[in-house]
Formats: sequence, structure tokens, C-alpha cells
Amino acid sequence: MKEYDYLIVGTGLFGCVFAERAAKEGKKILMVEKRDHIGGNIYTDVLAGIDVHVYGAHIFHTNNKEVWDYITRFGEFNRYTNCPIARYKDELYNLPFNMNTFHALWGVKTPDEAKAMIEKQTAEARSTIPDPENPANLREQALLLAGKDIYEKLIEGYTEKQWGRRATELPPFIIKRLPFRFTYDNNYFNAKYQGIPVRGYSDLIQNILKEGMNSGLIKILVKTDFFKEREELTEKAEKIVYTGPLDEYFGKKLGALEFRSLRFETEVMDCDNFQGNAVVNYTEYEIPYTRIIEHKHFALGTHVVGKTVVTKEYPADWTPGAEPYYPVNDERNNKLCEEYMKLAKAERNVFFGGRLGLYKYFDMDQVIAEALNTADLALHIMN
Ligand code: FAD
Ligand code: UDP
Repeated sequence: MKEYDYLIVGTGLFGCVFAERAAKEGKKILMVEKRDHIGGNIYTDVLAGIDVHVYGAHIFHTNNKEVWDYITRFGEFNRYTNCPIARYKDELYNLPFNMNTFHALWGVKTPDEAKAMIEKQTAEARSTIPDPENPANLREQALLLAGKDIYEKLIEGYTEKQWGRRATELPPFIIKRLPFRFTYDNNYFNAKYQGIPVRGYSDLIQNILKEGMNSGLIKILVKTDFFKEREELTEKAEKIVYTGPLDEYFGKKLGALEFRSLRFETEVMDCDNFQGNAVVNYTEYEIPYTRIIEHKHFALGTHVVGKTVVTKEYPADWTPGAEPYYPVNDERNNKLCEEYMKLAKAERNVFFGGRLGLYKYFDMDQVIAEALNTADLALHIMN
């Protein structure tokens, strides 16, 4: 008998939800986290009395009632609805592309007028593209879907900054579909449930773990890198739940999976309200950041007077050692990921999970759903 039933590598949302489920079943759990705090990328910290999303804006949204019912047991959510603004030079547009956007672009007022304008512009684009049935790159694909104005003002620069390559060098599949909405609705997410935890994501994470920690079933070691103590840690538990990067678990023996990284520049400002919205995207290429987040607006407000906290988000190339934020799900990486997944499936007593462990672009609700399923499999089906 080993000291713990489970060793969980990583204290992000996946690891914490799994730990909560396992502790409920009386399992003993050791969690290790290489950062100096728990919560993974949803971690929030308080600056000038304001909850700051340290690893980028996190807006909870889901259509999955089971996930919503689960997560809201650990904290109250507010009614925040994401309505980002796009800024192109001195022009402001509403996102996602909707009647407000179309009116600001062309002065159109009805859905029929907007559709006619988009049809006209996409037809013009078609006539300039050598093989419109098989767009050669992202630029051609986006022009065929959206036409020149939307592409040039709202897509091109943002996407090029995000992926670190010009649109003519990006594969078309990144933009297969562009949702157009022919109503005056600025709600970015088409989700039944949406909001931000009233007391912050860090409080939510602590609440998820609270019962297990109070009963002594969950123990957490921060500033502990699994790979630096792999043998000793593995010896301590019957089974492992691994949420770090998939390729690292296997020593990258088949090659490295690529990621995109980010750099955040956060500043406390002596004003009440800097930009009037939580999220403003900067869609022109010449401005090096993709968006500015003003954190107090996630909490709907003006509860803090005289101060505000803003974060500029800069996309960055990923080099070994940098934080891996986004999996790059192109053909090469997806193929490599499949090969690693074969190794993962053959690994006895190890469950892989989360954005890094499965190398998938999961949102928070998907991570929770995956963690609940994995816990069910580990604790009930395989037990
Ligand atoms: P993570 O949060 O990455 O946790 C993994 C943990 O494992 C980390 O703490 C890491 O330090 C630790 N770890 C890794 N290797 C080791 C090791 N060797 N030893 C010990 N510990 C290790 N989702 C939404 O639903 N809405 C949003 O608005 C949204 N916005 C996002 C914005 C950005 C900029 C990013 C990057 C993501 C966003 N997401 C959003 C996605 C969301 O962050 C993820 O779905 C979720 O946080 C993933 O949880 P996880 O547990 O899989 O991974
Ligand atoms: N996008 C864009 N202009 C914008 C916002 C998004 O062209 O103002 C495109 C861009 O290609 C980006 C994708 O939509 O890579 C997804 O962006 P979003 O910010 O919604 O996703 P996230 O990066 O938060 O997952």
C-alpha cells in the first residue's frame, strides 16, 4: 500500500476538480504544482482592491448545465456578459460581428442591407482569388467569408499578431467559419450560462479543495516540479493524474509539441475608468499587443474608486522554458499529438488531462467536463 491513492501533477482546474471528486470518495491525494500558487491559468490576485486575472482574461461560459451546476456550488457568479470592443486605428466596433458592427462599418440599418453588403464584398473577393474553391491561405479564406472591410479592419492584424505570422503564410483552416449575427446583440459567447466568480477564481479554486483539505485527504506542495523528483513522487502514489505538457511526460522523445506563448504587462492606474469596458481588442498590426483588459469591469464595476488595473496582452513565440499557453493545433502538431496519445493510452495507472496534458484548446467548462468524466472513470468504472 502506498501513502497516497493519487498523485496529481498540476493544480489547474483539471487537477482541482479531479482532487475534489477523489476526496469525496475518501481517496488520499498529493498535488504537486511547479508554480508558487495553485489554480493554474485561472489564478487571480488582488491588486489595488481589484481581482486581477493574472494569466489573461477568463470569462466562464457554458451550455453544459451539469458543469454549471457543479461549479456554482463552489462560489457565486455575477452576470458579466462578454461584449468586447475592437479598436482599429481611431475606429471602434462591436464584437462579435453583428448589426452594431455592420452599422458602424457601412451605415446599414437592417439585416437585409447588411447581408447585401457582405455578399457584395465576398463576391468582389472571389473575383480576385485564383482558386476560390480551394483558398491557399488564411487571407484568401477570410476574404471569401467576410469580404475586404471586415477582413482588413477586424481580422488581419489581430490574427497575424496572435499567430506570429502574416495571414498569407497561415493555413486557411484556422478560420473555417466566421459567425455573423444579424441582430443587435454584442454578447460574444452563445452560451446559456455566463459569468465571473464574485470573489475571484482563486477563491473558487480554494473552495473546490476546501473540504478535502480540511479532512486531511488532500495535501498540496507548491514550487514542486514533478520532473525534478519524478521517481520519489511516483513511488508515493498508486495512480497519477498528469496535467502538465503531454510531450514532457515522455521526455519529448517523439519531438516537441509547439505552443504559442503570451506576455502580460499589468499596471495600476490612478483613474476610475480607463477604457469603459473589460476587453478592448487592438486589431491593427502596428500595435504590438492584441488586447487591453481592464479588470474591474469583470466585477461589473466601480466598487474601487480612484484606481484601476489594466493589462496589455502581447502574443509571444514559445521557446522551451516559456509558459505554454495555446496548443498549436496544426497538421504537424496534431499528428505528433496522436502519436503521444498512443503512448499515453499504454501508460498504466496514469490519467492524462487538461489543456496541456491532452494538448487541446479547451475552455474552462470543457476542462471541468473532462475532469468529471475522468474522475468517474477512475473512481467508479475502473475501480
Ligand atoms: P492549467 O491551468 O494550465 O494548469 C496546469 C498546471 O500544471 C499549471 O499550474 C502548471 O504550472 C502545472 N504544471 C505543469 N507542469 C508541471 C510539472 N512538471 N510539475 C508540477 N506542475 C506542473 N477558458 C474559458 O472558458 N474562458 C476564457 O475566457 C478563457 N480565456 C483564456 C485566456 C487565456 C490567455 C488562456 C491561456 C486560456 C484561457 N481559457 C479560457 C482556457 C483556460 O485557461 C483553461 O481551460 C483552463 O485553465 C485549463 O486548466 P488546466 O488544469 O487544464 O491547465
Ligand atoms: N479574431 C479576430 N479579431 C478579433 C478577435 C478574434 O480576427 O478582434 C480571430 C483571430 O483569428 C483569433 C480567433 O478569432 O485567433 C479567436 O480569438 P479569441 O480572442 O476569441 O480567442 P481566444 O484567443 O481568447 O481563445
